[in-house]
Amino acid sequence: MELSIKKPENISVCDHPLALHNLTIMRNKNTPAELFRNATRRLAEVLFFSATDNLPTVKTEIETPLVGTEAIIIDPSAEVIIAPILRAGLLFSEVASNLMPDATVQHIGLYRDETTLKPVWYYNKIPKKFANPLNTFVYILDPMLATGGSAVEAIKLYVNKDIPQENIRFLSLLSAPEGIEKVHKEFPNVKVITAWVDDHLNDHGYIVPGLGDAGDRTFNTLYK
Ligand code: URA
Repeated sequence: MELSIKKPENISVCDHPLALHNLTIMRNKNTPAELFRNATRRLAEVLFFSATDNLPTVKTEIETPLVGTEAIIIDPSAEVIIAPILRAGLLFSEVASNLMPDATVQHIGLYRDETTLKPVWYYNKIPKKFANPLNTFVYILDPMLATGGSAVEAIKLYVNKDIPQENIRFLSLLSAPEGIEKVHKEFPNVKVITAWVDDHLNDHGYIVPGLGDAGDRTFNTLYK
């Protein structure tokens, strides 16, 4: 399978063998929910690790069991926000907050209206303002970047609170070219980090070949 887009600026396709192997497990319609969740966790871990390479670091002095030494830590003054889009982003955020236990988790309640395919807000409790927007780093998590409608709404939320686009990253396990284009049309400096970019969206806004409905497959709510 070849990537359907040329890699433009501000998109990182994390096509590591481990990532693609787990994505294939997720794509397979015969993968049961438990194995789907395991593969999601593994893929989410690879992506979150790679997406956080923009965090500022500082030097500190510590003692190892052998000597005193200078060592590097994430700048403790940086505010790190993990923002999962409900509900499919929940498992993704569990993985992210295991990797960064001190990060703040801000849930974003958006669903896609099935007829208009437009995002509809139902939960937003993010603070009115951030103490230091320039030193705030946001990782928005949604397993699927499809039409890009929810992504744009979520990014807008933070950009409107003066957080620079360069400090906001959108992480999706799988993306459609249409969604990436929509995000970058509005927010060219927000980096999209994904494991793969599929071919297209169908008339119902599903990614093709895709993996189906990520929320239903994660939470085993596929009713036949
Ligand atoms: N959301 C999903 O869960 N799957 C898609 O293919 C598109 C949006």
